[in-house]
Amino acid sequence: LEGRLVGLARAGEGPAGALLVLHDITRFRRLERMRTEFVANVSHELRTPLTSIRGFAETLLEADPDPETRRRFLEIVHREASRLSDLIEDLLDLSRIESGRMAMRPGPVAVDVLVADVLDRHQRRARAAELTLESRVPPGLPPVWGDRARLAQVLHNLVDNAIRYTPPGGRVTVAAEANPEGFVTVSVADTGIGIAREHLPRLFERFYRVDRARSRSSGGTGLGLSIVKHIVELHGGAVSVESEPGRGSTFRFSVPVAGPRTAASQG
Ligand code: ADP
Repeated sequence: LEGRLVGLARAGEGPAGALLVLHDITRFRRLERMRTEFVANVSHELRTPLTSIRGFAETLLEADPDPETRRRFLEIVHREASRLSDLIEDLLDLSRIESGRMAMRPGPVAVDVLVADVLDRHQRRARAAELTLESRVPPGLPPVWGDRARLAQVLHNLVDNAIRYTPPGGRVTVAAEANPEGFVTVSVADTGIGIAREHLPRLFERFYRVDRARSRSSGGTGLGLSIVKHIVELHGGAVSVESEPGRGSTFRFSVPVAGPRTAASQG
């Protein structure tokens, strides 16, 4: 439709044509504004850890503090540097996805193995945060069709958030089920802080955060969910979220089952 509108607008004469041209300009302005906002967001996100790295490095150089303080400062420098590399990795992924350059190597993926691998990577952190992290994946699920590393990244981001936004004593549960439409749905449920209804529609936008300070101080890049949504959609799947403030959140994603249909359509 967009293409047709542009075509009409170019050929357009009289009021209808003018209107369509106007429509096109409005769209162009909106895209421009989105781009400007994105650059402002990125710059801000890069500046925050850099300011901190510079400040602590300067203090280390100038004040020559005692070994204990020195260690504490170096730990901060190290943490902020890791945060910068996470942010840059996420930005690169996002730009690869949005320009259609994210390489996908699809094949059949066993969901139970995928879940077990991702949970293994998070167990230590969950224990340190005094959380129970458990899998409820039934045996006998059909394999899904996808890029194993990318699907692991999706699950990783969701589990990472669930741990980040759940206070000590809570629980994070990963479950999966096959549905009749030929999809497997994986859910990540937490008993954490939850999300107010008004935020839900914008949650998957890049840099959208309910609580900027909290997300930053706990190490988030603000890009995790937008990457999740993009990757799942590249698989022909969908994401959703349900949440209640103070009770917890459940994020779900569905991806197609590997079978003759998907195998054939992927060539
Ligand atoms: P971030 O790096 O800030 O976590 P995300 O894109 O992963 O960025 O998430 C966007 C925002 O969604 C977060 O800042 C947080 O406000 C909210 N959010 C995501 N997951 C959860 C969750 N499991 N519980 C509560 N809030 C969440």
